[in-house]
Amino acid sequence: MIEVEVKVKADHSKIRPILEKIGASKIGVEEQSDVYFAAPYRNFAKTDEALRIRSLGGQAVLTYKGPKLDKVSKTRVELETPVDGATTAKIFHSLGFQEAGTVHKKRDIFRAGEITVCLDAVEGLGEFLEVELDVEDEKDLKSSRDQLFKFLSQFGLSETDSIRTSYLEMVLEKRN
Ligand code: ATP
Ligand code: CA
Ligand code: CA
Repeated sequence: MIEVEVKVKADHSKIRPILEKIGASKIGVEEQSDVYFAAPYRNFAKTDEALRIRSLGGQAVLTYKGPKLDKVSKTRVELETPVDGATTAKIFHSLGFQEAGTVHKKRDIFRAGEITVCLDAVEGLGEFLEVELDVEDEKDLKSSRDQLFKFLSQFGLSETDSIRTSYLEMVLEKRN
């Protein structure tokens, strides 16, 4: 699975009325606590990969993300599976993986056709908007990305607003 994703900084009070106007439906609210891990044998910041345990509402999901595949979005391979969070963290620690940082956020999730829209309120960072399409085949990347930027134009947003910095990087930058 490839996640085609665009992230922008956005004031949610400006986004919500437009989402309503275009008929996007709210499909959920999640409180997410994400713990990112650093491997003992490879620098994920350099290789642009990610290993994460996400906890939400008593459940946990393990995620691997591969390097970004283009220059304007956050498109990348994403593999996810449900896990027991505490046990998985113990396994990683036993193998020498260390915690690289934690990101807390409240995510309001909407659906607009095939597009998943997330309004993220990230602790210590503020409000963001992420739009995403999941594709199976690399040949669909460009059209999906174009579709996302076309969608964002309804909010007065364009490619120049796209942020490729991860929440973790922003949290770590702020801490230093
Ligand atoms: P998702 O879209 O899966 O819900 P998210 O929106 O909460 O995730 P993002 O900022 O989109 O968070 O993605 C997580 C990011 O953290 C990835 O881009 C990954 O490259 C980055 N990351 C993971 N580990 C490290 C690390 N050790 N140093 C710097 N960045 C890292
Ligand atoms: Ca995503
Ligand atoms: Ca994201």
